Amino acid sequence: MKKSLVEILVCPTSKAALELTVDQAEGDEIVEGGLICPTCDHRFPITQGVPDLLPWDGCATPK
Ligand SMILES: [Zn+2]
Repeated sequence: MKKSLVEILVCPTSKAALELTVDQAEGDEIVEGGLICPTCDHRFPITQGVPDLLPWDGCATPK
């Protein structure tokens, strides 16, 4: 995913802005890393350039 994409991504549970961590990047393309929600204290993995923003097991989804 593009590094700039993080600006439009939000946590699916809390809708909070996410913080990007990078383990491996090619230019402005994130290959491996994570997106952290400081509100939920949850890390969404970025694998093979694809962010996994699915709600996780055990999350309390607000209605
Ligand atoms: Zn959240």
